[in-house]
Amino acid sequence: MTGTLVVNEIYLSLQGESTFAGLPCIFIRLTACDLRCSYCDTAYAFTEGKKKSLAEILAEVKRLAAPFQIGNRQSAIGISSLPLVELTGGEPLLQKNSLPLMKQLCDDGFTVLIETSGAHDIATMDPRVHRIMDLKCPSSGEAERNLYANLECLKATDEVKFVIGTREDYEWAKTQIAAHKLASICPLLFSWVHPLTPEQQNPVLKKVPAGLAPMTRTELAEKIIADALPVRFQIQQHKIIWPPEQRGV
Ligand code: SF4
Repeated sequence: MTGTLVVNEIYLSLQGESTFAGLPCIFIRLTACDLRCSYCDTAYAFTEGKKKSLAEILAEVKRLAAPFQIGNRQSAIGISSLPLVELTGGEPLLQKNSLPLMKQLCDDGFTVLIETSGAHDIATMDPRVHRIMDLKCPSSGEAERNLYANLECLKATDEVKFVIGTREDYEWAKTQIAAHKLASICPLLFSWVHPLTPEQQNPVLKKVPAGLAPMTRTELAEKIIADALPVRFQIQQHKIIWPPEQRGV
């Protein structure tokens, strides 16, 4: 394989979010993002990174995956192989070579996930990839960047994530689900905004727009139940297991 990507980090951990939460996962964090969400916990990936060839990245993934090769069939949980491999960032779709990398990972038998902001065309990637796409809520400060054309190509293997920090976010998310009939398409994730630690705060991030009412995770959980919403509540497991600002987990 030819081509390069600018990579922030590659590591093996547990998937902390989505319907795949709790499963072993190799994360390939790519450098750069064109959004500046108010709650972003990976601002270090905006600029930090090293250029690596696709061959080097694949070799590192296979090295990390090697201990899992014995008894790798995981039919009981419906996943053909573990660990999972997730491209994340930053925004992985800003680098066009993320596309051939994902294709090759699928060809090599990996279950491939991508976390994307929803601000870029998701139609171009290999159809075997599980696309976990944000719809940015008002408190992110980036809601105007949502590319609504992406909703047209969602399928059952994708997941739409709403990161919710305020009551306005919650109501906005509810409206989007109804307006676009999202519950009939794919799993929907309601992720509570974990407050940033001092180490994670970065002056380049957008401010939460004035006048929004913060929502605790208990409030969020109870609202979902009270409103009988067909969504999956999630908290970021890795921030419960390890210190929230720890990298590489
Ligand atoms: S899209 Fe993701 S990586 Fe980019 S600023 Fe928002 S939260 Fe951070």
